[in-house]
Parts: sequence; C-alpha cells; structure tokens
Amino acid sequence: MLSVRNLRSRYGRIEALCGIDLDVEDGEIVTVIGANGAGKSTLLRCLSGVQPASAGTVEFAGQTITKMPAHRRVARGLAQTPEGRQIFTTLSVEDNLRLGAYVHDDDRYEKDRDAAFDMFPVLKEKRDQIAGSLSGGQQQMLAIARALMSRPKCLLLDEPSMGLAPILVTQVLEAVKSLRSVGVTLLLVEQNAFAALSIADRGYVMEVGQITMAGPAGELISDPRIRKAYLGL
Ligand code: ATP
Repeated sequence: MLSVRNLRSRYGRIEALCGIDLDVEDGEIVTVIGANGAGKSTLLRCLSGVQPASAGTVEFAGQTITKMPAHRRVARGLAQTPEGRQIFTTLSVEDNLRLGAYVHDDDRYEKDRDAAFDMFPVLKEKRDQIAGSLSGGQQQMLAIARALMSRPKCLLLDEPSMGLAPILVTQVLEAVKSLRSVGVTLLLVEQNAFAALSIADRGYVMEVGQITMAGPAGELISDPRIRKAYLGL
C-alpha cells in the first residue's frame, strides 16, 4: 500500500526527516512511535503531500506520488487526520462531513455519511451542533469521520489520543482499530506508545528524524529498550 524509501524533509536548515524507509501492507495497522519532536508529524505530512520531500520516494498503491499535490493524493485514496484534529469549529458536525467528501462528485454522500454515523453514533446525535462545542474525544471522532468521507484506502492518523482522558483514549483507539473491518489500512503516529502498539500489527520507532527500531507490535511492546524509553516500565 505504502512504500517509503530514503525520505528526507527539512524546515530551512533543520533536517526533520533524515532518510526514512517504511512499508505499510494492504490491511495492516502500522504505528510510528517516538518522543516529541522526533519527526513523526513531518513524516505523515510528507506522505499526505502538505510538506515537501527534499529527497527519496513515496509509492502509494503502486504509483510514485512523491511530488503529487495533496488534493490528488486524497482523490487516489490517501487521507490524513492531522495533529490537533483541525476540524472546522464554526461549522456543524454534518457540514464538516460534507467538506470531507469534497473529492467526490457523485450521489453517494448520504450513504457515506450514514456509514460514518454507524461507526460514530454520537456524531449522528449531534449532527446539527456546532463542531467546536463537541468534547475532545468527539472532535477526534469527527476528524476521523471527515477523513473517511473521502473513501480512503489508507488513512494517516496523527496523534488521535492527544489531550484525551485515558477512558477516551481507549474509546477512540478501539474505533480506530475497527476501521480495519471497513477495509481501511492505517498508519498511526502516536506519543502514547503503549496504546498504539496495543492495536497495531507492526511498529516503527523514530528518533531525531530516523527509524531506529522496527518489528511486530507484540515484540516491540516487550522489548526492554522500548519498555524503558517509551512505556515508563
Ligand atoms: P510532536 O509529537 O511534538 O508533534 P513529532 O515527532 O511529530 O513531534 P515534528 O513535529 O515532525 O515531530 O517535528 C520534527 C522536527 O522538526 C522538530 O525538531 C521540530 O522542532 C521541527 N519542526 C516541525 N515543524 C516545523 C516548522 N514548521 N518549522 C521549523 N521546524 C519545524
């Protein structure tokens, strides 16, 4: 589904990605964990096309997309739920979903919206409410539902647990896990390493712009180095 080779990206003189190699297979949940500032968000932003790559290649579903503009990547089935949710706070819940469907010019809007409501019933209850009035967990669900409206094959999900109470982290990540059952492949970036590795098939560890470890999530979660550095155990 995704194949990333020697990907580099910079902000002026700061190199935030220093040669990333990463693969995501069709149907997998893959997580990238790492400390604040490791480059996780930059990686997702390069994959979605909102941050330029300075070197390397990104292949998605068999096509090289390294220089493809972001809106064309969305149309091909690669969507992003950005860090901090970035929902349209002054619009209603349903108008946020409507905007998520902007790439499709067909009559499937209501069907897609109802599928999103089935996945997140609270959004159906609050469909006419202003999105900014939702709780943090509900806003995260809306951000994910909005991305689903573009019918992604692969969703890039940045820190869905950020700022949520522990009980909501569990709820949101269970919802994330269930996306697999509707055929969405997931690349999940998280600082909450335990929660992310608990739902992922495989994981990568990122430190200062580089991948330093990779493996099945079960192996990473029991690795003493990960337990010490990222799980506080
Ligand atoms: P966080 O979890 O805090 O978002 P992260 O792992 O996602 O961290 P990035 O946000 O990708 O890390 O940041 C990687 C590096 O790039 C950091 O050194 C950061 O300071 C720098 N950086 C990120 N965005 C910018 C920007 N717009 N301008 C300059 N430097 C930036």
